[in-house]
Amino acid sequence: MNSIEYIKKAKNGEIDIVENTKKTLEEIKKIDKEYNYFININENYSLNQAEKISKSNKKGKLYGLPISIKDCVCVKDLESKAGSKILEGYKPVYDATVIQKIKDEGGIIIGKTQQDVFGFGSFNTNVGKGYKIPKNPFDKERTTGGSSGGGSGITKKIEMPHIAVTESTGGSIAAPASYCGVIGLCPTYGRVSRYGLMTYSNSMDKIGVTSKDIEEIALMTSVISGYDRKDSTSKKIEIPDYTKKKYDKLKLVLVKESINEGVEEGVSKNLINLIDKIKYDYVSMPLNFKYSIQVYYLCTMSEVSTNLSMLCGMRYGMHEKLEGNFNEYFSKVRSNNFVKEAKRRIIIGTFARMSGFRDAYYLKALKVRTKIIEEYKKIFKKYDLIITPSMPNIAPKFSDINKMTPLENYMTDIMTAGPNLAGFPHISIPSGFSKDMPTGLLAVANHFQEHKLIDFARSLKK
Ligand code: GLN
Repeated sequence: MNSIEYIKKAKNGEIDIVENTKKTLEEIKKIDKEYNYFININENYSLNQAEKISKSNKKGKLYGLPISIKDCVCVKDLESKAGSKILEGYKPVYDATVIQKIKDEGGIIIGKTQQDVFGFGSFNTNVGKGYKIPKNPFDKERTTGGSSGGGSGITKKIEMPHIAVTESTGGSIAAPASYCGVIGLCPTYGRVSRYGLMTYSNSMDKIGVTSKDIEEIALMTSVISGYDRKDSTSKKIEIPDYTKKKYDKLKLVLVKESINEGVEEGVSKNLINLIDKIKYDYVSMPLNFKYSIQVYYLCTMSEVSTNLSMLCGMRYGMHEKLEGNFNEYFSKVRSNNFVKEAKRRIIIGTFARMSGFRDAYYLKALKVRTKIIEEYKKIFKKYDLIITPSMPNIAPKFSDINKMTPLENYMTDIMTAGPNLAGFPHISIPSGFSKDMPTGLLAVANHFQEHKLIDFARSLKK
């Protein structure tokens, strides 16, 4: 039963939502023991919510549906730490706007899912100090992908109706969706409020949806979208009803560079097979494929280096014994509680913004960013959707990830960095299997054209 059927039955009274919540909690606890998808499972909280909703007269669009939330989205009174150790113990005093919207529609929050700390990673192996790494639902020796690894893993593994709320800065919805064989939709920057989302990179963070079924994605995207006066970057623009089909014929274009060398054969084969029945053209995106990784990492790390400066053991989360002067105390807290990848990003980002280097790195990156956006915009004048694989490979084994250099690691974002730099909505759709592991197709649309992505996924389902 998918979530749409479940909600219908729950509304009709054919299913008891409290009982359903209990069963869902049992299932996720069992899965979690083996796969580590949750950072917190919030039993009492979700049961209380279910009781309350079942007693109320209002039957919202998500009535009684269990929903998992990536840890970086603030939920009032639930520990929310973006997967990090340094924020341990932090319980927000307010709900993120998306959480408020979900609650208003009767959704039940069952827990916070695992992620790379603050979103720093593509394999969910950069977890907070001492936390467990989630494992791929198809092969426990492989990664779920990151950084929304927990949300994608549980989506694949769970049998009870459920939808995951996930987040992407540079591919964190698409990457794990592709590696776990589920659908992930990242909306346009500004479509969904970021209020209450713990910042990784302000100019790129987006909250989105991961699920098994495109109708579930359509429903949740309709619920969480919309202007929010608490987020100055959210946009006042009409929200279409994604649950209804709108587009029939969409013009597709496949990016040449995306199926070239460096991409696993099974990945490009599956992609071509999937779209072969549909008409499509080819295009080249030289700028994107040459520079998007460099530009993405320079921009995000620069933003990270200022954003994380507030985490110093004074205001939020971790505190240590107050000793020494400011520098000594802050250094101790940050040295002990940031993982290596967070430190690397703070250092590189600080360097890229330093006077003397800023022009050569950060400001240069911003200029190239604009050029890359222009490259996309030109293509969107003629086409509706730009197609590439979601990831160049199948989910790698942990033993191989350990051997990768940081640069090799960053390079796996080659398909997803571009659309995220430009704030374009994109969707990862399962395209088949290679060596018994799922592969994904990435479709990118122009700003605020999420509906095209959803209708495209619908057309592939047939
Ligand atoms: N892999 C990318 C990074 O490490 C994207 C992560 C994300 O979207 N949060 O920055």
